[in-house]
Amino acid sequence: MIESFSQQFTALQGWLFETAIQPLVYHLGLMAYVEPVYEGLGTAMVGIIEIAVLVALLKPLERWRPVEQWAEKRAVRADVLYTWLHRLGVLPMAIFLLLVIPFNELEIWLRMHDIVRPNIEDVMPWLERNSVGAFVIYLLLLDLVEYWLHRWQHKFNGWWALHSLHHSQRQMTFWADDRNHLLDDVITSAAVALAALIIGVPSGQFFLLIIAGRMIESLSHANVRLSFGRLGERLLVSPKFHRAHHAIGVGHEGVNRGCNFAVLFPLWDIVFRTANFQSAYEPTGIRDQLQGRDYGIGFWRQQWLGLVRLRDAFRRAGGGAGFAP
Ligand SMILES: [Zn+2]
Ligand SMILES: [Zn+2]
Repeated sequence: MIESFSQQFTALQGWLFETAIQPLVYHLGLMAYVEPVYEGLGTAMVGIIEIAVLVALLKPLERWRPVEQWAEKRAVRADVLYTWLHRLGVLPMAIFLLLVIPFNELEIWLRMHDIVRPNIEDVMPWLERNSVGAFVIYLLLLDLVEYWLHRWQHKFNGWWALHSLHHSQRQMTFWADDRNHLLDDVITSAAVALAALIIGVPSGQFFLLIIAGRMIESLSHANVRLSFGRLGERLLVSPKFHRAHHAIGVGHEGVNRGCNFAVLFPLWDIVFRTANFQSAYEPTGIRDQLQGRDYGIGFWRQQWLGLVRLRDAFRRAGGGAGFAP
């Protein structure tokens, strides 16, 4: 079934490209870019399918047992825009273009210095014959990297100035997953891509890993009373688990400046003692919003205010050391 789906997908991609995109590319004199444009079309098509699946599955789920209900839909609109920009590949593509040159340079440098990257299959030879096992190990390792990046997004004032945008949604829905500051996106994407390069994740698998992760992350932001049960809550990040991360105070204060940092597997929160399985569907947002701090409702205002907070964080730290805890 997967094979016939992928054949149909490629056929549709080819047809769309030949009838609509290629003539345009030639018309604009951009023949040299035919291949990346073709790949970009594939990414956008995957994104459209993904959003269709999300809407078909998660909308009814949110209608079934919503945690909160609100009449004003305006605050969610920007989140929908973030999701489309991300899933259609517009932002990931821009970030990729920014990173491709430094990463190529790094690869060349590593090769010139005879530095052989460690390969998971060398450490665990049984993985060579077990593609599902290899997939799960890569997923766990990348999730560990994301766990620590997320801890630092909360720990360092400069980084929190940007990441707080993600937490500022007080009407959280499955669309909220991609609500991030663009600069924050660039930093975390670069770090994750670098980790994937070092761990040696095969590029085909990397794409699958990203999609699998994105689906679970959207679910974890859904406005739904849904727990995966005593065991399930400890295996996979659920809407209940991630809601505690977004809860006012609970999710961004205390010794660790929050709890439930894991993106996919609560395992990392359990190992590093930041898990909170007690919190139950509390209101989401940041403490200072209750005192009237504005994080913006529209896309551009949110991006601008993020930069203003970043500047203030640097100023408070006496310039230079804005990333001090
Ligand atoms: Zn966070
Ligand atoms: Zn979140």
